[in-house]
Amino acid sequence: MDEKVTILVTGGSGMLGYALQRVVKVEKRPNEEWIFINSKDGDLRDINQTRKVIEKYMPTHVLHLASAVSGMFRNIKFNSDVLLTNQSINTNVYQVCKDIKVKKLISCLSTCIYPDNVTYPITESMLHNGAPHITSIGYSFSKRMLDVMNRCYRMQYGCNFLSVIPTNLYGPNDNFSLEDAHVIPGLIHKVHRCKKEDTPLIVWGTGKPLRQFIFSYDLAKLMIWAIREYNDEENIFFSVDEDDEISIKELVEIVVEESGFKGDVVFDETKTDGQYKKTVSTAKMRQFLPDFKFTPIREGIRETIRWFEENYETART
Ligand code: GDP
Repeated sequence: MDEKVTILVTGGSGMLGYALQRVVKVEKRPNEEWIFINSKDGDLRDINQTRKVIEKYMPTHVLHLASAVSGMFRNIKFNSDVLLTNQSINTNVYQVCKDIKVKKLISCLSTCIYPDNVTYPITESMLHNGAPHITSIGYSFSKRMLDVMNRCYRMQYGCNFLSVIPTNLYGPNDNFSLEDAHVIPGLIHKVHRCKKEDTPLIVWGTGKPLRQFIFSYDLAKLMIWAIREYNDEENIFFSVDEDDEISIKELVEIVVEESGFKGDVVFDETKTDGQYKKTVSTAKMRQFLPDFKFTPIREGIRETIRWFEENYETART
């Protein structure tokens, strides 16, 4: 029989944690115990609470998802808070995982932390080749430090700590705040309100930026594969392929159609576009997973809208 493994997920009630819980229900193996913790179990900014909550479960594996995270517009306002929160959480989690000799720790970075001026498509190894976009400097450097910590802990203590790097994530149980969310949940909530109030939809920016959007249930499946199978020391991108990159304008059309919104759509070009694009190469992921099928964006958005409508009263808004 396979060795018993205990997999602890920090940030277990966020969008990705929620997706993991759903997928694990179906795909859990008999030798696996999955434990999802969130801020109610302990404040990971505090080393004593971090030690207590992790030592309670003595995991063999950790998926470290807990993080301060938000859309570009909130990042601009709270760069310092995000930097300090993430640094504290990451330092504490890594320290305790090293102390209790966790066999594998995977943390989650994001493609928005890559250099602003790069050649495309971006490959995993370009992470430190230049400054990130100024809008999310606090978030980006706190996440880049996870990569530095992976290398330092591996060199000094032989820890099997590594990171995976998804592109723009969306799905059920996201933060649907009108002002501070990422573009997909922000648009879904705005369209919901425009339909109710019979007002035009105001989209921020020109609509020209390009993004590779990944559905949270797909990322959950990839994270499960990574915790079981991926042992390369280097990071790996998890993303839909380059051909599936779409513009914000195309995205708006899908959200509008799937919501049945019939009103006007106005692009507010006084709002920043942020990065024009951050296209990543999926060559490495495809070497390992040539046949992995991603949920088509229209289907993922339909599912996310349905979840939002059904959970409107309790959704994070
Ligand atoms: P990021 O730029 O990839 O970090 O992610 P965001 O989701 O914050 O924004 C992506 C793009 O969507 C940017 O070009 C924004 O200008 C544009 N955008 C359009 N409407 C919205 C909105 O309501 N909320 C957010 N966050 N972005 C929007």
